[in-house]
Amino acid sequence: MPTGGFTMAEKKYVYAFEEAYGKGKELLGGKGAGLAEMTHIGVCIPEGFTITTEACTLYYQSGKKLPEFLIEEIFENIKKVEAKTGKIFGGDHKPLLVSVRSGARQSMPGMMDTILNLGLNDVTAAALARETNNERFAMDCYRRFILMFTNIAKGHPRDDMDRMLDELKQKRGYKLDTEVTAEELKELVKAYKAYYKKTFGEDFPTDPKVQLVEAVSAVFRSWDNPRANVYRKMNNIPYEWGTAVNVQSMAFGNKGETSGTGVAFSRSPSTGEKQVFAEYLPNAQGEDVVAGIRTPLHIEELQKRMPEVYKQFHDTIELMEKHYRDMQDMEFTVEDGKLYFLQTRNGKRTAAAALKIACDLVDEGLITPEEAVCRVEPSALNSLLHPSFDAEALKKVQPIGIGLAASPGAGTGHLSFSAEDAKVRRANGERVVLVRAETSPEDIEGMVSAEGILTMRGGMTSHAAVVARGMGKCCITGCSSAVIDEENATLTLNGKVYGKNDTISLNGSTGYVYEGAIKTVEPELTGYFGRIMKWADEFRRLRVRANADTPRDALQAAKFGAEGIGLCRTEHMFFDSDRIFHMRKMILSETVEGREEALKELLPYQEDDFYKLYMAMEGKNVNVRLLDPPLHEFLPQEEDKIEELAKALNTTVAHIKERINYLHEFNPMMGHRGCRLDVSYPEIGRMQARAIMQAAIRAQRDSKIKITAEIMIPLTLDVKEFKFVKKIIVDEVEKVIAEQNAKIEYKVGTMIEIPRAALLAGEIGKEAAFFSFGTNDLTQMTFGFSRDDAGKFLPDYYSNKILEQDPFQTVDQKGVGRLIRMATNEGRQANSELHVGVCGEHGGDPLSIEFFDEVGLDYVSCSPFRVPVARLAAAQAAIKHKK
Ligand code: PEP
Ligand code: MG
Repeated sequence: MPTGGFTMAEKKYVYAFEEAYGKGKELLGGKGAGLAEMTHIGVCIPEGFTITTEACTLYYQSGKKLPEFLIEEIFENIKKVEAKTGKIFGGDHKPLLVSVRSGARQSMPGMMDTILNLGLNDVTAAALARETNNERFAMDCYRRFILMFTNIAKGHPRDDMDRMLDELKQKRGYKLDTEVTAEELKELVKAYKAYYKKTFGEDFPTDPKVQLVEAVSAVFRSWDNPRANVYRKMNNIPYEWGTAVNVQSMAFGNKGETSGTGVAFSRSPSTGEKQVFAEYLPNAQGEDVVAGIRTPLHIEELQKRMPEVYKQFHDTIELMEKHYRDMQDMEFTVEDGKLYFLQTRNGKRTAAAALKIACDLVDEGLITPEEAVCRVEPSALNSLLHPSFDAEALKKVQPIGIGLAASPGAGTGHLSFSAEDAKVRRANGERVVLVRAETSPEDIEGMVSAEGILTMRGGMTSHAAVVARGMGKCCITGCSSAVIDEENATLTLNGKVYGKNDTISLNGSTGYVYEGAIKTVEPELTGYFGRIMKWADEFRRLRVRANADTPRDALQAAKFGAEGIGLCRTEHMFFDSDRIFHMRKMILSETVEGREEALKELLPYQEDDFYKLYMAMEGKNVNVRLLDPPLHEFLPQEEDKIEELAKALNTTVAHIKERINYLHEFNPMMGHRGCRLDVSYPEIGRMQARAIMQAAIRAQRDSKIKITAEIMIPLTLDVKEFKFVKKIIVDEVEKVIAEQNAKIEYKVGTMIEIPRAALLAGEIGKEAAFFSFGTNDLTQMTFGFSRDDAGKFLPDYYSNKILEQDPFQTVDQKGVGRLIRMATNEGRQANSELHVGVCGEHGGDPLSIEFFDEVGLDYVSCSPFRVPVARLAAAQAAIKHKK
């Protein structure tokens, strides 16, 4: 019976590797496309086929079932593999066993599921034992398969079955899995099958066809599992993409001493050094390496054991790197002295490695500078912009342990022994280091929350290492001298026991672990970083400014390459203890004169702040926004503070409370704020305009650099309102210029952060010199979501697939983006000189930047630490849009 209303295959859903070349990652997934390409260039891989991402969509459309015609297409391809290998799927001789692996368009390490050794039952296992003359090997495959099938296809936790193996080893006094004998494995297989029957009330499926259909379905299902959903959201991978499934004849690395398995990077994923970086585990299957169950050996081991195979391994890696023109991450297996590559993909790497590899590939003539700029993930730069341990401070401390330097950086925090604990404590503002025997994909949220990750087991390619590198997070793996007791939350290192409230520091660049916190230093932004950023600056069209309110932030921004300040939020300047009193006095005053008197006290402070900003930016534009928040935010809440203020102002507590009550608003975000304040109290805008101009004139005189002052009016909603406030500003500015007999340029523009302003941009544009989209408020007001509270319910929108992204992080192109595009176009039609930028949080988000480039904005403005990210993202956007 056809399923889900599909009566026949309308298109091809399954491609043998040799017919798939050129069909693209969208259809085949990254792994499938890689296998097709490897086949095409003549790399030896086990035979197989790819079930497309479109089949994944079909699976979901069919109510999570594989339609009959798809099943038929899969088995036609199994027949082809049988013909090519001379093996028989489910055969009582020469049995064909396959691996079933997921492979999305973009690699998602460890997020989805893999099943190995599929096709085994009592008959095929016996045949395998007989034909390989290795019963132990056959039984080992069989017990692994039952475990994986139970865990992945049936979604049952693997703990009990793992424990059964551990207990067996303990009983016999074995340390390694490889010590378990064939007879014992046979017993274990029996025990596993009994466990399966007890758990599911049915026998373990013996028909390989049933096994395969269930396994393929399980891989498709895994696209929607919780950890994949978290990973997808973090990496902006759309849900619609779906995953492909690769079915491939098994190559056995666990056949004996002339077999083995490993992973290889064509260059170091940690530093980018041009040398093959590989690990090898003799007599093992791939999952042993990836899961960190056994710590792998250096690749020299392969060279020692099988020099011929090693040479072929090296030559193939070189061939693949030249072909793909990028660093490759490969899995390989040696079966009885024959080398197979199981997959290749562009390797995940640290930001430092990405920069070095991109520059080296340009120098080697393999890629162009434009390609090099596109090879570095902009947000990965974050890990380079943050401090590392101070070399001097490091000399004074003794490490308490060492592991593998899996992902560089400095991480200090209290010990946390579970992902959940790390998440909760981070949410409460505590810095934690996640300490685990090994990590699994379930730990992803804990890893996100931690300052660094330390694991006892696992190599450079274990889950912890790969995922931490992807996150740009400091990580040390394989710290074998550590004894980690997750249940009792203790870490024993160097003879000392550490608990949850103890602090350790991890140096992910060396692998050393230290007790306590260590001083950190600012990063150096030269070398490869400088080269890539220089190219990026040549290619980008968007200018990049910074949001900065203090000279310290401004200097930091300038150091990171900011081309000006796009937003100075003046409200932050009123909170210092010597100013807040005058601010409060101004707010509590009920007459214009009273307010003016208090504002006069504030003027010198403001002028000084602005002067320092102008000087720090050395003539680059500084855009100062007039006071934005509602006034009650500046008033005291606590009883003693109110009393103190009443005394200082020579008034009563009751009077102050009365004013506080008067200013109270039910919906302050939509209340008396932004330019509404200047409409009611023009003297505030006047004081700020005077402070800005006096500072600009003084800075221009002192620095002898020409300055153009930019004054920005917040929360405008109508052209009449804008003109009203602009007149207040311009009158005062002209007064200052006349008083000082100065020659200086200035511009008055507006934020566009209320949908009405975006809708009326054509009118406002006639009066404004510039627009700066305040996408924080614009998102808040367009969605009607409070920017401070939406985090509470947004997860429900993600889990129900209503929204895929936090609209406060990545601009909502459909709605908010439409307003931005429209306002930009209509504003420019009204005023061809209009300068347009964005200063909301989205100004530092790479995906949003791509959109802003496409819309044709002039600049983005973001926090200082995101400036390099924005420069690189802007270059990538320009390169993409040029194509
Ligand atoms: C904005 O709303 O995007 C903005 C930059 O202003 P603020 O975040 O200060 O409200
Ligand atoms: Mg705003």
